[in-house]
Amino acid sequence: MTEPAHDQVTATAPAGRRHRVVIIGSGFGGLFAAQQLKKADVDVTLVAKTGHHLFQPLLYQVATGILSVGEIAPPTRLILRDQKNVTCILGDVTKIDVASKTVFASAGHIRFDLEYDSLIVAAGANQSYFGNDHFERWAPGMKTVDDALELRSRILGCFEQAEVTEDEEERRRLLTFIIVGAGPTGVEMAGQVAELAQHTLKNTFRRIDPASARVILLDAAAAVLPPFGNKLGNAARARLEKMGVEIQLNAMVTDVDQLGIEVKDPDGSVRRIDATCKIWSAGVQASTLGKMLADQTEAEIDRAGRVLVQKDLSLPGHPEIFVVGDMMSLDKLPGVAQVAIQGGKYAAKQIAAEVEKGRSPAERQPFKYFDKGSMATVSRYSAVVKMGRLEISGFIAWVMWLVVHLAYLIGFKNRLTTMFSWGMNMGGDHRSQLTSTQQWVYGRQAIERVAEHEKARSAEEDRDRAVETTSISE
Ligand SMILES: Cc1cc2nc3c(=O)[nH]c(=O)nc-3n(C[C@H](O)[C@H](O)[C@H](O)COP(=O)(O)OP(=O)(O)OC[C@H]3O[C@@H](n4cnc5c(N)ncnc54)[C@H](O)[C@@H]3O)c2cc1C
Repeated sequence: MTEPAHDQVTATAPAGRRHRVVIIGSGFGGLFAAQQLKKADVDVTLVAKTGHHLFQPLLYQVATGILSVGEIAPPTRLILRDQKNVTCILGDVTKIDVASKTVFASAGHIRFDLEYDSLIVAAGANQSYFGNDHFERWAPGMKTVDDALELRSRILGCFEQAEVTEDEEERRRLLTFIIVGAGPTGVEMAGQVAELAQHTLKNTFRRIDPASARVILLDAAAAVLPPFGNKLGNAARARLEKMGVEIQLNAMVTDVDQLGIEVKDPDGSVRRIDATCKIWSAGVQASTLGKMLADQTEAEIDRAGRVLVQKDLSLPGHPEIFVVGDMMSLDKLPGVAQVAIQGGKYAAKQIAAEVEKGRSPAERQPFKYFDKGSMATVSRYSAVVKMGRLEISGFIAWVMWLVVHLAYLIGFKNRLTTMFSWGMNMGGDHRSQLTSTQQWVYGRQAIERVAEHEKARSAEEDRDRAVETTSISE
C-alpha cells in the first residue's frame, strides 16, 4: 500500500450490461458464493479487506508454529484466476447505501464505490470482549493472520524473556499462559501451547525448563466444549488435564491488564492470576456492516450484531441483499464454516436462477442447512467429533479431523505442504514456523497510533475547511 498523498476518489462500478453481483468478504461465505456463480451469466465483484481466503479453523496452528501463513491463507485472486466473470478487489467496505445500491470502500488512501444489482454480504465476525474492549490490548483474540502472527510472537517472546530475567516472580509470570474461552479454539490453543512447551521447545533453553510453563484454560461456563455435550467435553477435559493444562470453569474474567487477569469465582470472591501472555477466544461480534444494513431496512440485529435474515437469507423488503455466514442470524444456526459455505452457495444459486431463468424472488425455497457435524482437536492424535448421534473421541476422531481439514483446505499444493508440515510435527515434534519478530508483537500498537494520527489529521482538515467556508461566505 502506498503512502497517502491525499485522498483519491474513483468510481469503479463494473461496466457492461450483465447483472452485477457484489460480494463482500473472501471468507467461506464470500468465496463459495463467488465459485457457485462460475457458470452464471453475471459479473461478480468480490471485495474484501484482506487479499486472501483465510481458513480460520487452522489459525491456531499458525499461532503455534506448525503451519505457515501461506498454507491457510492463499490469495483470493489466485484461487479465482480462471473464473473469468469474477473481479477481485482489495477494499475495506465502509458504507453500504441500500437506496442507491452502492457499496463504498477504500484501499489505503484510494476510495471507490461499486454499484450492484445483487449484494451478498459475508463480512464475518470479530472477537467480542462483551463491552470490555480495553481487554483486547493485553489479551488479543485470534481471527486474522495478523492475530495469529502476533500471538506466535507473544508466546515465543515469553519463553525468551523468561530465559533472561533474574527475577523469579517475573519468570513465573512469563511462563504462565492463560487462554480465555473453553470452546474449540480455546481447547485447540491450550493443547498446542502445552505441546509446544513440553515437546517442541524441550532442551532448547539453558536456564529455564519450558515444560514448567503453566497453561490455564479458563471459562465462565461450567463445561469444556459446551456445544459438543458432556461426554465429548469431559473427554477433551481429561486429555488436556493429562497434558498438564489447568482447567478453571465457572471463572468469570472481570479485568485484564499487562501483568495478568482478575477472575470472579461462583462464590463472588475475586482473585488474580499473574500472566504475561493472555489469549482471548471467548466470544464473537458480527461485522458492523450488519448494523449499517439494519439501520436502512426493516431488518433487526441480535445482541451479537448478527442480522436476523428472512428464510431465504435476504433482508425484509430487499430480496437483492443476502447476508450469510457469521453475520447472519437464522434458526439459532452456529457460526461455523459449513453454515457460511452453504449460505453463500444458496444465495448465489438464487441469483443465478433469477437472472437466467427469470424466476421471481417470491418463488425461492427457504434455505435448508445440512449439519455435517462438528469436530475439534485436543492434541496430537486426539480429537472429538460429533455427527448427529455419533460421538467419537481420541485417535479415530483425530484421523477424521485430519481428513476433513485437508479436504477443505484450498488448493492441491497447500494440501501437500500442510500434510508435510503435519508429518514433521507428528514424526519428531518439529515445527517449521517458529519465527517471531518484534514487528508482529508491536505492529498492532503502531497501526493504532497511525490510525489515531490520521483521524486527528482529518478532523483538523475538516475544521480548517469549515473556517475557510465561513470566511468565504462572510
Ligand atoms: C480461530 C477460529 C477457529 C475456528 N474453527 C472452526 C472449526 O474448527 N470448524 C468450523 O466449522 N468453524 C470454525 N470457525 C468458524 C468459521 O471459521 C467461521 O464460521 C467462518 O469463517 C465464517 O465465514 P464467513 O464467510 O461468514 O466469515 P469469514 O470467514 O470471517 O470472512 C469474512 C470476510 O469478510 C472480510 N471483511 C470483513 N469486514 C470487511 C469489510 N468491512 N470490508 C471488506 N471485507 C470485509 C474479511 O476480510 C474476510 O474476507 C473458526 C473460527 C475461528 C476464528
